[in-house]
Amino acid sequence: MSVRLGLDQIRSAPKVLLHDHLDGGLRPATVVELAAEQGYRELPTTDPQELAAWFVSAAPRHDLVRYLAGFAHTVGVMQTCEALERVATECVEDLIEDGVVYAEVRFAPELHTERGLTTEQVVESVLAGFDGATARAAVAGRPITVRTLLTAMRTAARSREIAELAVRYRDAGVVGFDVAGPEAGYPPTAHLDAFHLVQRENFHATVHAGEAFGLPSIWQAIQWCNAERLGHGVRIVDDIVVGPDGGASLGRLASYVRDRRIPLEMCPTSNVHTGAVPSLADHPIGLLRRLRFRVTVNTDNRLMSGISLSSELAGLVETFDWSWRDINWLTINAMKSAFCPFEERLALIDGRIKPGFAALDPDCTRARPSQETYIAHGSLADEPLID
Ligand SMILES: [Zn+2]
Repeated sequence: MSVRLGLDQIRSAPKVLLHDHLDGGLRPATVVELAAEQGYRELPTTDPQELAAWFVSAAPRHDLVRYLAGFAHTVGVMQTCEALERVATECVEDLIEDGVVYAEVRFAPELHTERGLTTEQVVESVLAGFDGATARAAVAGRPITVRTLLTAMRTAARSREIAELAVRYRDAGVVGFDVAGPEAGYPPTAHLDAFHLVQRENFHATVHAGEAFGLPSIWQAIQWCNAERLGHGVRIVDDIVVGPDGGASLGRLASYVRDRRIPLEMCPTSNVHTGAVPSLADHPIGLLRRLRFRVTVNTDNRLMSGISLSSELAGLVETFDWSWRDINWLTINAMKSAFCPFEERLALIDGRIKPGFAALDPDCTRARPSQETYIAHGSLADEPLID
């Protein structure tokens, strides 16, 4: 018999988050305090509650200009080493409260140099915040692993430099490179230099692709830029035709993405809020999960969307009538798709995720061999019941 699946239960489950922006997840009170400390006078209000409502109110109206104005404020107060370290620290604390056991949090170093910081200082401040907070959490008996992705803005010309920066800090917690920003008119192939560097260095890359823009963006990200994962990737549905009987026919690109188990870093509420998808019920994640693409669920911007990973999962459970088994599947998908080393992934799957879900609902582990069994016989991706 299945166990009740509400927000509190989901919060207690060990979860994995692969797509979360540091500048999209600040606490409203922190934005207010940092603005006062740094003499930043552009905030629409200095009342934390009103400010929280202001950030979120832009989203459901699909007002992209207002949505982006939110980032001007968060980035505006993240221009000193102390501010960056504090935001990173609080990010870890908030993820622990939400029951996240592994997260990859991304940010664009080039956006935090307005007041003279170097990109190295930016990266080191954020990493110091992550390291301090994760060390304290481990001592407190609430361990979490947090890794970092460095993002280059597709509208700028610094991607090669950011890719080099990411590789330089690979032993200090940076596990990958990403490109973000408006897709239309800014194809990922404009940054081939950066992606080829990442490839030559045996490093990892994901790309924001197929969020609002179509298939060419996804195709370029995978076939030209060697993206191992797709940030969003929602528009892959444009290459899938669903017949009246519910049967689906996949085009060549959609087939490739599914066959190669290319992870989709899906962020459903964010897509609704930016207008890429009309509603959660209309979101392709339901279809893509049914067709067994390598789907993962993510937050994108917790502050601007007023969500957490748990609330996002709870919304999907309600919308698509998903069970613990679905949440478990999504979580293991995400952990398998992480950019941290294989052994760390395995340790988290076997040491935390499987036991955590088994304790919440025994149905999750019924008749399922351990990951080691599969490692002994092939690859992690071969586990038939989960993948
Ligand atoms: Zn994003």
